[in-house]
Amino acid sequence: MKNGQCCFCSKPVEEAGLDPCTLSIATNGEGNQSWPCHVACYLERLGDLPYGRELFED
Ligand SMILES: [Zn+2]
Repeated sequence: MKNGQCCFCSKPVEEAGLDPCTLSIATNGEGNQSWPCHVACYLERLGDLPYGRELFED
């Protein structure tokens, strides 16, 4: 994956650790899109989900 710009903070995403991770959105219609983002930015905005957080453990 190429370096990109974080969709949350707009700063470049380095390839380090788990970064970049990718946020993928699929709408109920045909639309889908994905953006690179920082793990830290994503975690900060992630709700209190009962599952899925293990994805971000190094
Ligand atoms: Zn970020």
